[in-house]
Amino acid sequence: MKDLVSVQRTSNKGLGIYAIRDINKDEVITEFTGPVVTIPEFDGFPDEVVNHLFNIGVDKYIMAREPAVRTNHSCEPNAGIVKDVFLVAMRDIKAGEEVTFDYSTIIADAWVMECGCGSHLCRKTIGKYVDLPLEVKQRYLKYTPEWIKQQ
Ligand SMILES: [Zn+2]
Repeated sequence: MKDLVSVQRTSNKGLGIYAIRDINKDEVITEFTGPVVTIPEFDGFPDEVVNHLFNIGVDKYIMAREPAVRTNHSCEPNAGIVKDVFLVAMRDIKAGEEVTFDYSTIIADAWVMECGCGSHLCRKTIGKYVDLPLEVKQRYLKYTPEWIKQQ
């Protein structure tokens, strides 16, 4: 599968992924692929690695490769997760736009992050899916992995 994004430096949050062409709503942008690990296995991994693990189930994570691993969080994202590992456009995306998804749609553990995404919808502290307001869950409904909806 051909990635529709490239990794580039953002102005204020390290690396990010950017659309290399116009992307249509519901197009697959990239896939999270890599070795699958569980919590005991990554105990002792550097923070840089732990902070970039991609959740695919309860206590089940992918050490994802680029470009997917460089996808930043936004509280007002233009992409979401379908079938556990596919990053899919939630709306039309223009070439050159940064592509983001809402990390809470894959968080089931105690991991939290402060957010300064700048959106008027910013929740400031990003944590578990179960703690999301109902209207946020509904906004992401088609773009949330099934495993986490069952939490
Ligand atoms: Zn935010």
